[in-house]
Amino acid sequence: MIVSLEIGTDASRVQRELVALGLWVRRLDGSERVSFLIEPSSRQVARQELLKIPGVSDVAEPRSPHPLLDAQPRHPTLCGVELGRDPLLIAGPCAVESPAQIEAIAARISGVGARLIRGGAFKPRTSPYSFQGQGEQALDWLSSAARKHGLGVVTEVMAADQAALVAEHADLVQIGCRNMQNYSLLATAAASRKPMLLKRGMSATVEEWLLAAEYCLLHGAPFVVFCERGIRGFDTSTRNLLDLGAVALLSHVHGLPVLVDPSHACGRRDLIPALSKAAMAVGAAGLLLETHDAPGEALSDGSQALWPEELAGIAGDLGFRKPAGVERQPTQATLLEART
Ligand code: PEP
Ligand code: MN
Repeated sequence: MIVSLEIGTDASRVQRELVALGLWVRRLDGSERVSFLIEPSSRQVARQELLKIPGVSDVAEPRSPHPLLDAQPRHPTLCGVELGRDPLLIAGPCAVESPAQIEAIAARISGVGARLIRGGAFKPRTSPYSFQGQGEQALDWLSSAARKHGLGVVTEVMAADQAALVAEHADLVQIGCRNMQNYSLLATAAASRKPMLLKRGMSATVEEWLLAAEYCLLHGAPFVVFCERGIRGFDTSTRNLLDLGAVALLSHVHGLPVLVDPSHACGRRDLIPALSKAAMAVGAAGLLLETHDAPGEALSDGSQALWPEELAGIAGDLGFRKPAGVERQPTQATLLEART
């Protein structure tokens, strides 16, 4: 923002008032009048507040590069959860491996307060020789397990030709970190008009992340839920570097729903309870936690998968609860059932 002063105003007095409001200001001396540039990292203060300061003649706000995101509801509802008001727990394996595996995990996670089950049918793997996911059939296994246990579904779309099928099964369509800037995929996935889970690219700035969400909204997504899953750092002792500052920024400054995925952030299950608590403390709207009923046998990401008992411990400590007696919102899985 640029705050312009009337000619002849005592600029030092106005500067003191701006600083007292918690703003970082840079003085710009013009030939006749003084203005102040308000640094974007300042506390959020409404334009109307600044116009009340004696001697301020105008406050110019630059046009936002993401107007649709700015207008997104602050507390959108997903599977009966008002994001940002009720904490959202999403849990499930890295990949959907078999009908029995996903059914066993759905049974365990639904009992401890998870509202959606996660699991990839199409897996983005660094090596082409690693397990690539069970493909289309896994979407059926996932949604029938979800339906049986009253859970919503979140699963990743990796390519445009999977978008319609994934949207048919998912309540929340996941865009993985490797595709955050695949703009044509964002547009195609958004056209199915499902809420989207936008994972942060591993080297994406916050501004790039917000603009990727703007693509989703422009192309039809009703709202975007962000997911911080760790960015690339220089230290290899954890898999990635969990950027909790960005979570606080999205939550407290932009008022956007942001989940934290400590599983992919740190890559090891022993650190997940501590990072989960930290995430909720800085303003996360919820958690996405990889959970497996036999982590040692997982076909991908076993070392970061929680045992169901560990998930239960985290859910209990952080107050995630199974909704009691609440009318469940229909999820995509229940809608699929109604159709068949
Ligand atoms: C995942 O959630 O399974 C996944 C592959 O995550 P990311 O895109 O964050 O690596
Ligand atoms: Mn994984």
